[in-house]
Amino acid sequence: MFVSMYEFESLPLISDSYPLKFHDCEWTTFSVRCSACNKKIKNENVRGYVDATTAGDGYRTIARIIRYDIDAMAFCDECNLMTTAIYSFHEDMRMTGASPIDGNHTTWTPDRRSRLSIFRKFKSMLGFKVLDSIVRK
Ligand SMILES: [Zn+2]
Repeated sequence: MFVSMYEFESLPLISDSYPLKFHDCEWTTFSVRCSACNKKIKNENVRGYVDATTAGDGYRTIARIIRYDIDAMAFCDECNLMTTAIYSFHEDMRMTGASPIDGNHTTWTPDRRSRLSIFRKFKSMLGFKVLDSIVRK
C-alpha cells in the first residue's frame, strides 16, 4: 500500500480499532517502531485498515471472530519515513506476518507459561510494543 501524505491522513487510525477482541481474550494495544530510527511512532501517525474474519460452527447463529488482519502504515515525522506493518492476530494468540529481520512469513506463538517475556520479545522482533496486551477473561 503506497499512499500520498494526503491519502495517508484520510486513512482510519488503527488505534480506533483497539482493543482487538476475541471470544475469550483481547489485544489491548500495540505500537509500531520506525524501521529507520526504531523509535515508537505515535498512535495518531499509525493508520490503515483492520479487517476481522469470522467463522461460525454451523450451529450458532452468531459467528465469532477468529482473526484480525492489520494493514497499516506508520509515519515517523523525525525521519520523514513510512514503515509498513502488515500482521495478523489470531484467536489462539498466534501472530503472523513478515519478519522485520528477513521479510519471511513468520508465526510467533506465545508460550502460555512465559507469555509476558515472549511478548516483550515482540517489541524487538517486530517493532511492536505489546503492553499487557493479552487479557484473559
Ligand atoms: Zn524514524
